[in-house]
Amino acid sequence: MKNIEQAPLRKLLAVFAHPDDESFICGGTLAKYASEGVEITLVSATRGDMGRRMGNPPYLNRESMAAARELELKQACECLGIRQLHFLDIRDKTVEFIDPDHLASRVEELIIEVGPDVILTFHETLGGHPDHCAIGKATTAAFQRAGRGALYFITFGDVMERPKRFGYTREDVVKIDVSSHLREKLAAFRAHRCQTEIDEWVWLPDQEALTRFGDYEYFLKGDRKALQRDSHDLF
Ligand SMILES: [Zn+2]
Repeated sequence: MKNIEQAPLRKLLAVFAHPDDESFICGGTLAKYASEGVEITLVSATRGDMGRRMGNPPYLNRESMAAARELELKQACECLGIRQLHFLDIRDKTVEFIDPDHLASRVEELIIEVGPDVILTFHETLGGHPDHCAIGKATTAAFQRAGRGALYFITFGDVMERPKRFGYTREDVVKIDVSSHLREKLAAFRAHRCQTEIDEWVWLPDQEALTRFGDYEYFLKGDRKALQRDSHDLF
């Protein structure tokens, strides 16, 4: 019989743009896989230093923001069970201006170093923010070069409950049940304090705040290997 020690270590590499992308968009999924023993490596292209939310009442400025958001991201990682964190040290809101080939090479190096089974990033046109789309495009190129793992794109809320609107079918979508991991997700939202202080619902009593989360997070399959996999699991 196979026991847990003999099972190969599963690895997930998430390449996003800003501190909070991991928690706000797919925190439940990351917490779920971390709780199952998956080794998660998070890459944040920037430190979110150009964010417009300065705390409530404001206590940050342009100078202090990067360090504050780095610390908050580390705390969010603890809430979610993410042990490896890398920054690409790119200035917030400038990812789209980095040479795409250079950016892809940096991500490719990380893919080779980590050796992930699953890679998460933004879709290069559905990412919603220029930094998101740029890091998604570079990570997709890096994935194609490195030829390692299966690629998935993170999506917002439950928009992929109706994939046809975006030219996709149900078969292109993975729907992850995160209902058992909403507490970790809420803790991660609260860790990103300067970004969430203004959102009153985040600070309601747990039972009330938790009702704001959906039970599912959705991912778009980004390559053939992902397409062959289950529709309720990334691995
Ligand atoms: Zn973002």
